Amino acid sequence: MKQKIQTEFYTNQSYFYFGTLISVLTILPQFLFSPNSTHTLFLAITLIVLITIPKFSKILFSVFIIFINLSNILIGHIALHWGYALADIKPRIEVAFLSPIYESKEYIARYIDYRDYWLILFSLFVLFLLFRFLRHFTHSYKIFRIIGSGVFALILVNVTFYINPIREFEPFSVPCEICTVMDDKNKIDQIMKAREEYIRHIKILEANKKKQLYDKIIIVMGESANKNHMALYGYKYPTTPFLMSLQQTHQLYVLDAIAPTNQTRYSLPIDLTEANVHYYEDRYLHSCSILTNFKTNHYETYWISNQGRVGKNDSSISSMASEANTTFFANLNYLEAKTDEVLLDYLNKLQTNSGKEMFLVHIMGSHSDYINRYNKGTALFKNAKNIVEEYDNSIHYSDYILSQIYERFKNDKLLLIYLSDHGENINLDNNGHGFLPPFKDEYTVPFVIYSTVKNPRLDELYRDNKKGYFNLENFNDIVQYISGISNHKNLSYSHDVMAVEPTNIYDFDTLESFN
Ligand SMILES: [Zn+2]
Repeated sequence: MKQKIQTEFYTNQSYFYFGTLISVLTILPQFLFSPNSTHTLFLAITLIVLITIPKFSKILFSVFIIFINLSNILIGHIALHWGYALADIKPRIEVAFLSPIYESKEYIARYIDYRDYWLILFSLFVLFLLFRFLRHFTHSYKIFRIIGSGVFALILVNVTFYINPIREFEPFSVPCEICTVMDDKNKIDQIMKAREEYIRHIKILEANKKKQLYDKIIIVMGESANKNHMALYGYKYPTTPFLMSLQQTHQLYVLDAIAPTNQTRYSLPIDLTEANVHYYEDRYLHSCSILTNFKTNHYETYWISNQGRVGKNDSSISSMASEANTTFFANLNYLEAKTDEVLLDYLNKLQTNSGKEMFLVHIMGSHSDYINRYNKGTALFKNAKNIVEEYDNSIHYSDYILSQIYERFKNDKLLLIYLSDHGENINLDNNGHGFLPPFKDEYTVPFVIYSTVKNPRLDELYRDNKKGYFNLENFNDIVQYISGISNHKNLSYSHDVMAVEPTNIYDFDTLESFN
Protein backbone atom coordinates (compact mmCIF):
# COMPACT_ATOMS: atom_id res chain seq x y z
CA MET A 1 0.00 0.00 0.00
CA LYS A 2 2.72 2.42 1.07
CA GLN A 3 4.68 1.50 -2.01
CA LYS A 4 1.66 2.14 -4.23
CA ILE A 5 1.16 5.60 -2.76
CA GLN A 6 4.84 6.38 -3.26
CA THR A 7 4.78 5.25 -6.85
CA GLU A 8 1.61 7.22 -7.53
CA PHE A 9 3.18 10.32 -6.02
CA TYR A 10 6.41 10.05 -8.02
CA THR A 11 4.73 9.32 -11.35
CA ASN A 12 2.43 12.32 -10.95
CA GLN A 13 5.02 14.71 -9.50
CA SER A 14 4.92 17.36 -12.21
CA TYR A 15 1.11 17.32 -12.22
CA PHE A 16 1.10 17.76 -8.44
CA TYR A 17 3.65 20.59 -8.38
CA PHE A 18 2.06 22.51 -11.20
CA GLY A 19 -1.41 22.24 -9.64
CA THR A 20 0.00 23.35 -6.30
CA LEU A 21 1.79 26.30 -7.90
CA ILE A 22 -1.45 27.48 -9.48
CA SER A 23 -3.26 27.11 -6.14
CA VAL A 24 -0.62 29.07 -4.24
CA LEU A 25 -0.55 31.88 -6.81
CA THR A 26 -4.33 32.04 -6.73
CA ILE A 27 -4.50 32.47 -2.97
CA LEU A 28 -1.39 34.68 -2.72
CA PRO A 29 -3.09 38.10 -3.28
CA GLN A 30 -5.71 37.23 -0.67
CA PHE A 31 -3.00 36.25 1.81
CA LEU A 32 -1.26 39.57 1.27
CA PHE A 33 -4.46 41.55 1.83
CA SER A 34 -5.89 39.43 4.63
CA PRO A 35 -7.15 41.73 7.39
CA ASN A 36 -6.80 39.35 10.36
CA SER A 37 -5.58 35.95 11.50
CA THR A 38 -9.04 34.31 11.36
CA HIS A 39 -9.27 35.21 7.72
CA THR A 40 -5.74 33.99 7.09
CA LEU A 41 -6.64 30.65 8.66
CA PHE A 42 -9.68 30.45 6.43
CA LEU A 43 -7.48 31.14 3.41
CA ALA A 44 -5.05 28.42 4.50
CA ILE A 45 -7.91 25.91 4.59
CA THR A 46 -9.04 27.13 1.18
CA LEU A 47 -5.50 26.55 -0.13
CA ILE A 48 -5.50 22.95 1.13
CA VAL A 49 -8.86 22.43 -0.56
CA LEU A 50 -7.47 23.82 -3.80
CA ILE A 51 -4.47 21.50 -3.66
CA THR A 52 -6.68 18.43 -3.12
CA ILE A 53 -9.24 19.18 -5.82
CA PRO A 54 -7.14 18.39 -8.94
CA LYS A 55 -6.58 14.87 -7.56
CA PHE A 56 -10.13 14.02 -8.46
CA SER A 57 -11.60 16.73 -10.67
CA LYS A 58 -9.94 19.08 -13.11
CA ILE A 59 -13.24 20.76 -13.91
CA LEU A 60 -14.03 21.64 -10.31
CA PHE A 61 -10.45 22.86 -9.90
CA SER A 62 -10.83 25.15 -12.90
CA VAL A 63 -14.10 26.57 -11.58
CA PHE A 64 -12.48 27.43 -8.25
CA ILE A 65 -9.34 28.90 -9.79
CA ILE A 66 -11.23 31.06 -12.29
CA PHE A 67 -13.68 32.26 -9.65
CA ILE A 68 -11.05 33.15 -7.05
CA ASN A 69 -8.79 34.89 -9.54
CA LEU A 70 -11.63 37.08 -10.79
CA SER A 71 -12.63 37.82 -7.18
CA ASN A 72 -9.02 38.75 -6.44
CA ILE A 73 -9.27 41.67 -8.84
CA LEU A 74 -12.28 43.09 -6.98
CA ILE A 75 -11.08 42.30 -3.46
CA GLY A 76 -7.56 43.48 -4.22
CA HIS A 77 -8.93 46.74 -5.57
CA ILE A 78 -10.91 47.31 -2.37
CA ALA A 79 -7.95 46.40 -0.18
CA LEU A 80 -5.57 48.65 -2.10
CA HIS A 81 -7.76 51.71 -2.30
CA TRP A 82 -10.02 51.51 0.72
CA GLY A 83 -8.36 49.22 3.21
CA TYR A 84 -9.57 45.68 3.65
CA ALA A 85 -10.28 45.86 7.35
CA LEU A 86 -12.06 49.15 7.12
CA ALA A 87 -14.39 48.76 4.21
CA ASP A 88 -16.63 45.82 4.06
CA ILE A 89 -17.05 44.91 0.48
CA LYS A 90 -20.73 45.64 0.03
CA PRO A 91 -20.48 49.44 -0.21
CA ARG A 92 -17.91 49.05 -2.98
CA ILE A 93 -20.12 46.67 -4.90
CA GLU A 94 -22.92 49.18 -4.41
CA VAL A 95 -20.77 51.83 -6.01
CA ALA A 96 -20.35 49.59 -9.01
CA PHE A 97 -23.97 48.55 -9.35
CA LEU A 98 -26.13 51.23 -7.76
CA SER A 99 -24.69 54.28 -9.38
CA PRO A 100 -25.61 55.47 -12.83
CA ILE A 101 -23.19 54.56 -15.61
CA TYR A 102 -21.51 57.94 -15.74
CA GLU A 103 -20.66 57.67 -12.07
CA SER A 104 -19.22 54.22 -12.50
CA LYS A 105 -17.08 55.63 -15.29
CA GLU A 106 -16.02 58.47 -13.08
CA TYR A 107 -15.21 55.98 -10.38
CA ILE A 108 -13.06 53.91 -12.70
CA ALA A 109 -11.24 57.01 -13.88
CA ARG A 110 -10.50 58.14 -10.34
CA TYR A 111 -9.86 54.91 -8.49
CA ILE A 112 -8.37 52.44 -10.92
CA ASP A 113 -4.61 52.84 -11.17
CA TYR A 114 -1.46 50.87 -12.08
CA ARG A 115 -1.82 48.62 -9.03
CA ASP A 116 -5.15 47.38 -10.35
CA TYR A 117 -3.60 46.76 -13.77
CA TRP A 118 -0.81 44.71 -12.19
CA LEU A 119 -3.37 42.71 -10.28
CA ILE A 120 -5.41 42.08 -13.43
CA LEU A 121 -2.25 41.04 -15.30
CA PHE A 122 -1.26 38.74 -12.46
CA SER A 123 -4.70 37.09 -12.39
CA LEU A 124 -4.64 36.64 -16.16
CA PHE A 125 -1.21 35.06 -15.84
CA VAL A 126 -2.52 32.53 -13.31
CA LEU A 127 -5.44 31.76 -15.61
CA PHE A 128 -2.96 31.23 -18.44
CA LEU A 129 -1.09 28.73 -16.23
CA LEU A 130 -4.41 27.00 -15.58
CA PHE A 131 -4.99 26.76 -19.33
CA ARG A 132 -1.54 25.14 -19.77
CA PHE A 133 -2.28 22.82 -16.89
CA LEU A 134 -5.56 21.65 -18.39
CA ARG A 135 -4.06 21.09 -21.82
CA HIS A 136 -0.70 19.53 -21.10
CA PHE A 137 -0.91 17.77 -17.76
CA THR A 138 -2.60 14.49 -17.02
CA HIS A 139 -2.51 12.21 -14.02
CA SER A 140 -2.87 8.54 -13.15
CA TYR A 141 -4.14 9.00 -9.58
CA LYS A 142 -6.18 6.17 -8.04
CA ILE A 143 -5.56 6.18 -4.29
CA PHE A 144 -4.96 9.95 -4.28
CA ARG A 145 -8.24 10.40 -6.08
CA ILE A 146 -10.07 8.79 -3.17
CA ILE A 147 -8.00 10.59 -0.51
CA GLY A 148 -8.38 13.93 -2.32
CA SER A 149 -12.15 13.78 -2.66
CA GLY A 150 -12.41 12.56 0.95
CA VAL A 151 -10.34 15.49 2.29
CA PHE A 152 -12.24 17.92 0.09
CA ALA A 153 -15.63 16.70 1.30
CA LEU A 154 -14.50 16.68 4.92
CA ILE A 155 -13.17 20.22 4.84
CA LEU A 156 -16.17 21.51 2.95
CA VAL A 157 -18.57 19.98 5.46
CA ASN A 158 -16.53 21.36 8.36
CA VAL A 159 -16.20 24.83 6.96
CA THR A 160 -19.85 25.03 6.01
CA PHE A 161 -21.38 23.67 9.19
CA TYR A 162 -18.88 23.96 12.00
CA ILE A 163 -16.14 26.47 11.47
CA ASN A 164 -18.03 29.27 9.83
CA PRO A 165 -20.57 29.71 7.08
CA ILE A 166 -18.49 29.79 3.96
CA ARG A 167 -20.50 32.63 2.49
CA GLU A 168 -19.26 35.07 5.11
CA PHE A 169 -15.71 35.00 3.84
CA GLU A 170 -14.23 36.52 0.77
CA PRO A 171 -13.83 35.46 -1.93
CA PHE A 172 -16.93 33.30 -1.49
CA SER A 173 -19.08 36.11 -0.13
CA VAL A 174 -18.69 38.08 -3.36
CA PRO A 175 -21.60 36.48 -5.29
CA CYS A 176 -23.91 36.72 -2.24
CA GLU A 177 -23.13 40.39 -1.81
CA ILE A 178 -23.70 41.09 -5.49
CA CYS A 179 -27.07 39.33 -5.31
CA THR A 180 -28.30 41.30 -2.29
CA VAL A 181 -27.08 44.57 -3.78
CA MET A 182 -28.85 43.88 -7.06
CA ASP A 183 -32.01 42.90 -5.22
CA ASP A 184 -31.96 46.05 -3.06
CA LYS A 185 -31.25 48.14 -6.11
CA ASN A 186 -34.30 46.89 -7.96
CA LYS A 187 -36.62 47.52 -5.04
CA ILE A 188 -35.24 50.98 -4.31
CA ASP A 189 -35.29 51.94 -7.99
CA GLN A 190 -38.96 51.10 -8.23
CA ILE A 191 -39.87 53.03 -5.09
CA MET A 192 -37.90 56.11 -6.11
CA LYS A 193 -39.31 56.05 -9.65
CA ALA A 194 -42.81 55.99 -8.20
CA ARG A 195 -41.96 58.96 -5.99
CA GLU A 196 -40.52 60.96 -8.89
CA GLU A 197 -43.60 60.19 -10.96
CA TYR A 198 -45.83 61.34 -8.14
CA ILE A 199 -43.93 64.60 -7.70
CA ARG A 200 -44.05 65.33 -11.42
CA HIS A 201 -47.83 65.55 -11.21
CA ILE A 202 -48.04 67.29 -7.87
CA LYS A 203 -49.88 70.63 -7.79
CA ILE A 204 -48.37 73.32 -5.58
CA LEU A 205 -49.86 76.75 -5.13
CA GLU A 206 -47.63 79.71 -5.74
CA ALA A 207 -47.47 82.15 -2.87
CA ASN A 208 -48.05 85.89 -3.05
CA LYS A 209 -44.74 87.39 -4.23
CA LYS A 210 -44.99 90.37 -1.87
CA LYS A 211 -44.84 88.11 1.14
CA GLN A 212 -41.62 86.49 0.02
CA LEU A 213 -38.91 88.23 1.97
CA TYR A 214 -35.70 86.60 0.85
CA ASP A 215 -33.45 86.45 -2.17
CA LYS A 216 -31.13 83.85 -0.66
CA ILE A 217 -32.30 81.04 1.56
CA ILE A 218 -29.57 78.78 2.87
CA ILE A 219 -30.31 75.74 4.95
CA VAL A 220 -27.21 74.18 6.41
CA MET A 221 -28.04 70.62 7.38
CA GLY A 222 -25.54 69.58 10.01
CA GLU A 223 -24.46 66.04 10.76
CA SER A 224 -24.41 64.46 14.22
CA ALA A 225 -24.25 67.86 15.94
CA ASN A 226 -25.23 67.63 19.60
CA LYS A 227 -26.19 71.11 20.82
CA ASN A 228 -24.93 70.25 24.32
CA HIS A 229 -21.45 70.63 22.82
CA MET A 230 -22.16 74.10 21.45
CA ALA A 231 -21.20 77.15 23.50
CA LEU A 232 -24.23 78.87 21.97
CA TYR A 233 -26.37 76.41 23.94
CA GLY A 234 -24.30 76.70 27.11
CA TYR A 235 -21.36 74.32 26.60
CA LYS A 236 -18.30 75.06 28.73
CA TYR A 237 -15.80 75.39 25.85
CA PRO A 238 -15.95 78.10 23.16
CA THR A 239 -16.96 75.79 20.31
CA THR A 240 -19.18 78.30 18.50
CA PRO A 241 -17.45 81.71 18.38
CA PHE A 242 -19.09 82.76 15.13
CA LEU A 243 -22.67 81.96 16.13
CA MET A 244 -22.12 83.73 19.44
CA SER A 245 -20.88 86.84 17.68
CA LEU A 246 -23.93 86.66 15.43
CA GLN A 247 -26.11 86.44 18.51
CA GLN A 248 -24.81 89.87 19.56
CA THR A 249 -26.55 91.37 16.52
CA HIS A 250 -29.95 90.27 17.91
CA GLN A 251 -30.84 88.93 14.50
CA LEU A 252 -30.06 85.35 15.40
CA TYR A 253 -32.90 83.21 16.74
CA VAL A 254 -31.61 80.40 18.93
CA LEU A 255 -34.38 77.83 19.21
CA ASP A 256 -35.06 74.79 21.30
CA ALA A 257 -35.76 71.72 19.17
CA ILE A 258 -35.31 67.97 18.92
CA ALA A 259 -34.52 65.85 15.88
CA PRO A 260 -37.30 63.46 14.85
CA THR A 261 -35.01 60.43 14.54
CA ASN A 262 -31.47 59.25 15.25
CA GLN A 263 -30.70 58.13 11.69
CA THR A 264 -29.68 60.30 8.74
CA ARG A 265 -31.62 58.30 6.19
CA TYR A 266 -34.90 58.98 7.99
CA SER A 267 -34.26 62.40 9.45
CA LEU A 268 -33.60 64.19 6.19
CA PRO A 269 -36.82 62.98 4.54
CA ILE A 270 -38.78 63.74 7.73
CA ASP A 271 -37.26 67.21 8.05
CA LEU A 272 -37.67 68.15 4.41
CA THR A 273 -40.94 66.50 3.30
CA GLU A 274 -44.38 65.96 4.79
CA ALA A 275 -43.26 62.67 6.30
CA ASN A 276 -43.17 62.65 10.07
CA VAL A 277 -42.37 60.36 12.96
CA HIS A 278 -45.69 58.50 12.95
CA TYR A 279 -46.33 58.53 9.21
CA TYR A 280 -43.12 57.92 7.46
CA GLU A 281 -43.03 55.88 4.28
CA ASP A 282 -46.34 56.71 2.67
CA ARG A 283 -45.99 60.42 3.33
CA TYR A 284 -42.42 60.47 2.14
CA LEU A 285 -43.34 58.75 -1.11
CA HIS A 286 -46.35 61.00 -1.61
CA SER A 287 -44.92 64.40 -0.93
CA CYS A 288 -42.28 66.61 -2.42
CA SER A 289 -39.44 68.12 -0.44
CA ILE A 290 -39.10 71.85 0.16
CA LEU A 291 -36.80 71.95 -2.88
CA THR A 292 -39.86 71.54 -5.09
CA ASN A 293 -41.85 74.01 -2.96
CA PHE A 294 -39.22 76.69 -3.49
CA LYS A 295 -38.76 75.79 -7.14
CA THR A 296 -42.48 76.35 -7.71
CA ASN A 297 -42.04 79.77 -6.14
CA HIS A 298 -39.35 80.66 -8.68
CA TYR A 299 -36.30 80.02 -6.58
CA GLU A 300 -33.31 78.49 -8.31
CA THR A 301 -32.66 75.50 -6.07
CA TYR A 302 -29.37 73.80 -5.20
CA TRP A 303 -28.54 70.64 -3.31
CA ILE A 304 -24.91 70.85 -2.28
CA SER A 305 -23.55 67.94 -0.31
CA ASN A 306 -20.32 66.76 1.20
CA GLN A 307 -21.93 63.39 1.96
CA GLY A 308 -22.01 60.33 -0.22
CA ARG A 309 -24.75 59.88 -2.76
CA VAL A 310 -24.43 56.18 -3.41
CA GLY A 311 -26.05 53.33 -1.55
CA LYS A 312 -29.14 52.20 0.18
CA ASN A 313 -28.70 54.63 3.06
CA ASP A 314 -28.67 57.59 0.76
CA SER A 315 -31.29 56.80 -1.85
CA SER A 316 -34.13 58.54 0.02
CA ILE A 317 -31.82 61.53 0.26
CA SER A 318 -30.68 61.52 -3.35
CA SER A 319 -34.29 61.29 -4.46
CA MET A 320 -34.92 64.64 -2.75
CA ALA A 321 -31.65 66.04 -4.05
CA SER A 322 -32.81 65.27 -7.57
CA GLU A 323 -35.71 67.68 -7.04
CA ALA A 324 -33.21 70.56 -7.06
CA ASN A 325 -32.29 72.44 -10.23
CA THR A 326 -28.64 71.80 -9.51
CA THR A 327 -27.00 69.07 -7.44
CA PHE A 328 -23.41 68.85 -6.37
CA PHE A 329 -22.01 65.90 -4.45
CA ALA A 330 -18.43 66.42 -3.36
CA ASN A 331 -18.01 62.73 -2.51
CA LEU A 332 -18.83 59.29 -3.65
CA ASN A 333 -18.93 58.07 -0.06
CA TYR A 334 -17.98 58.77 3.51
CA LEU A 335 -14.55 57.18 3.47
CA GLU A 336 -13.01 59.70 1.14
CA ALA A 337 -14.79 62.82 2.37
CA LYS A 338 -12.70 65.96 2.62
CA THR A 339 -13.46 68.63 5.19
CA ASP A 340 -16.56 70.74 4.55
CA GLU A 341 -14.39 73.44 3.04
CA VAL A 342 -14.90 71.76 -0.36
CA LEU A 343 -18.46 73.08 -0.23
CA LEU A 344 -17.21 76.63 0.31
CA ASP A 345 -15.01 76.28 -2.76
CA TYR A 346 -18.05 75.19 -4.72
CA LEU A 347 -20.25 78.00 -3.35
CA ASN A 348 -17.61 80.60 -4.03
CA LYS A 349 -17.16 79.47 -7.62
CA LEU A 350 -20.87 79.48 -8.23
CA GLN A 351 -21.99 82.34 -10.43
CA THR A 352 -25.02 83.18 -8.37
CA ASN A 353 -27.51 85.48 -9.97
CA SER A 354 -29.23 88.39 -8.34
CA GLY A 355 -32.50 86.49 -8.40
CA LYS A 356 -33.95 84.16 -5.82
CA GLU A 357 -31.92 81.15 -4.82
CA MET A 358 -32.37 78.43 -2.25
CA PHE A 359 -29.50 76.21 -1.10
CA LEU A 360 -29.65 73.01 0.86
CA VAL A 361 -26.11 72.54 2.11
CA HIS A 362 -25.57 69.07 3.53
CA ILE A 363 -22.30 69.11 5.44
CA MET A 364 -20.21 66.29 6.92
CA GLY A 365 -20.29 68.20 10.20
CA SER A 366 -19.43 65.83 13.03
CA HIS A 367 -19.71 62.52 11.21
CA SER A 368 -17.29 59.99 12.72
CA ASP A 369 -14.32 59.77 12.52
CA TYR A 370 -14.36 63.25 14.01
CA ILE A 371 -10.64 63.70 13.56
CA ASN A 372 -11.15 63.81 9.79
CA ARG A 373 -13.75 66.56 9.98
CA TYR A 374 -11.68 69.63 10.78
CA ASN A 375 -8.62 71.57 9.85
CA LYS A 376 -5.91 70.68 12.39
CA GLY A 377 -4.20 74.08 12.13
CA THR A 378 -7.20 76.14 13.23
CA ALA A 379 -8.69 73.61 15.66
CA LEU A 380 -9.93 74.64 19.09
CA PHE A 381 -7.96 71.80 20.71
CA LYS A 382 -4.77 71.84 18.65
CA ASN A 383 -3.54 68.52 19.97
CA ALA A 384 -6.81 66.80 20.75
CA LYS A 385 -6.09 64.30 23.50
CA ASN A 386 -9.27 62.30 23.28
CA ILE A 387 -12.36 61.67 21.21
CA VAL A 388 -14.46 64.30 23.00
CA GLU A 389 -11.95 67.00 22.11
CA GLU A 390 -11.94 65.73 18.54
CA TYR A 391 -15.74 65.92 18.51
CA ASP A 392 -15.64 69.47 19.91
CA ASN A 393 -13.18 70.41 17.18
CA SER A 394 -15.65 69.22 14.56
CA ILE A 395 -18.40 71.37 16.14
CA HIS A 396 -15.99 74.30 16.15
CA TYR A 397 -15.19 73.68 12.50
CA SER A 398 -18.89 73.63 11.51
CA ASP A 399 -19.17 77.03 13.19
CA TYR A 400 -16.36 78.23 10.91
CA ILE A 401 -18.14 76.83 7.85
CA LEU A 402 -21.26 78.77 8.84
CA SER A 403 -19.19 81.95 9.21
CA GLN A 404 -17.85 81.55 5.68
CA ILE A 405 -21.30 80.95 4.21
CA TYR A 406 -22.49 84.03 6.07
CA GLU A 407 -19.61 86.12 4.67
CA ARG A 408 -20.51 85.04 1.18
CA PHE A 409 -24.18 86.07 1.40
CA LYS A 410 -24.44 88.63 4.21
CA ASN A 411 -25.20 91.53 1.87
CA ASP A 412 -28.22 89.81 0.40
CA LYS A 413 -31.72 89.49 1.73
CA LEU A 414 -30.62 86.37 3.51
CA LEU A 415 -32.29 83.66 5.56
CA LEU A 416 -29.65 81.36 7.03
CA ILE A 417 -30.75 78.29 8.96
CA TYR A 418 -28.61 75.75 10.75
CA LEU A 419 -29.91 72.49 12.18
CA SER A 420 -28.65 68.94 12.43
CA ASP A 421 -30.10 65.68 11.15
CA HIS A 422 -29.66 64.15 14.62
CA GLY A 423 -27.43 64.49 17.65
CA GLU A 424 -24.66 62.25 18.90
CA ASN A 425 -23.80 60.30 22.02
CA ILE A 426 -20.32 61.19 23.03
CA ASN A 427 -18.07 60.48 25.99
CA LEU A 428 -14.58 59.11 26.52
CA ASP A 429 -15.70 55.49 26.35
CA ASN A 430 -18.26 55.41 23.60
CA ASN A 431 -19.79 57.47 20.85
CA GLY A 432 -22.21 57.35 17.97
CA HIS A 433 -25.91 57.46 17.16
CA GLY A 434 -28.58 54.98 16.15
CA PHE A 435 -28.67 53.25 19.54
CA LEU A 436 -31.61 51.09 20.56
CA PRO A 437 -33.00 52.02 23.02
CA PRO A 438 -31.82 55.52 22.17
CA PHE A 439 -30.48 58.29 24.38
CA LYS A 440 -31.58 61.92 24.64
CA ASP A 441 -28.29 63.10 23.19
CA GLU A 442 -29.17 61.55 19.84
CA TYR A 443 -32.00 64.06 19.44
CA THR A 444 -30.66 67.26 21.03
CA VAL A 445 -29.79 69.29 17.96
CA PRO A 446 -29.14 72.95 17.22
CA PHE A 447 -31.83 74.95 15.46
CA VAL A 448 -30.82 78.52 14.71
CA ILE A 449 -32.13 81.05 12.23
CA TYR A 450 -30.51 84.26 11.07
CA SER A 451 -32.21 86.88 8.98
CA THR A 452 -30.79 90.05 7.46
CA VAL A 453 -34.26 91.52 7.08
CA LYS A 454 -36.92 92.19 9.67
CA ASN A 455 -39.37 89.31 9.75
CA PRO A 456 -42.32 89.36 12.20
CA ARG A 457 -42.87 85.65 11.59
CA LEU A 458 -39.50 84.91 13.18
CA ASP A 459 -40.46 86.82 16.32
CA GLU A 460 -43.70 84.88 16.35
CA LEU A 461 -41.80 81.60 15.98
CA TYR A 462 -39.51 82.55 18.83
CA ARG A 463 -42.51 83.22 21.06
CA ASP A 464 -44.09 79.92 20.03
CA ASN A 465 -40.89 78.15 21.00
CA LYS A 466 -41.25 79.42 24.55
CA LYS A 467 -44.32 77.16 24.91
CA GLY A 468 -42.24 74.03 24.35
CA TYR A 469 -39.50 72.58 22.21
CA PHE A 470 -40.20 71.97 18.54
CA ASN A 471 -39.98 68.57 16.96
CA LEU A 472 -38.21 69.14 13.64
CA GLU A 473 -40.51 66.68 11.90
CA ASN A 474 -42.33 69.78 10.61
CA PHE A 475 -39.21 71.69 9.67
CA ASN A 476 -40.47 71.79 6.06
CA ASP A 477 -43.56 73.77 7.13
CA ILE A 478 -41.54 76.10 9.36
CA VAL A 479 -39.17 77.07 6.54
CA GLN A 480 -42.00 77.71 4.10
CA TYR A 481 -43.86 79.78 6.66
CA ILE A 482 -40.99 82.02 7.76
CA SER A 483 -39.79 82.59 4.21
CA GLY A 484 -43.28 83.62 3.15
CA ILE A 485 -43.93 81.01 0.48
CA SER A 486 -46.69 79.54 2.64
CA ASN A 487 -49.12 80.86 5.25
CA HIS A 488 -49.53 77.48 6.82
CA LYS A 489 -47.81 77.49 10.20
CA ASN A 490 -47.75 73.88 11.21
CA LEU A 491 -45.55 73.52 14.27
CA SER A 492 -44.93 70.20 15.96
CA TYR A 493 -44.55 70.05 19.71
CA SER A 494 -44.62 66.25 19.64
CA HIS A 495 -42.33 64.45 22.07
CA ASP A 496 -42.34 61.30 19.98
CA VAL A 497 -39.12 60.36 18.25
CA MET A 498 -38.14 57.48 15.99
CA ALA A 499 -35.19 55.23 16.82
CA VAL A 500 -33.30 53.44 14.03
CA GLU A 501 -36.42 52.29 12.13
CA PRO A 502 -39.96 53.67 11.73
CA THR A 503 -41.36 50.90 13.92
CA ASN A 504 -39.56 52.12 17.07
CA ILE A 505 -41.19 55.19 18.62
CA TYR A 506 -40.11 56.63 21.97
CA ASP A 507 -41.18 59.56 24.11
CA PHE A 508 -38.16 61.86 24.17
CA ASP A 509 -38.87 62.97 27.75
CA THR A 510 -38.57 59.41 29.05
CA LEU A 511 -35.15 58.79 27.47
CA GLU A 512 -31.97 58.77 29.50
CA SER A 513 -29.09 61.11 28.89
CA PHE A 514 -25.98 59.42 27.57
CA ASN A 515 -23.65 60.83 30.19
ZN1 LIG B 1 -26.53 61.66 10.30
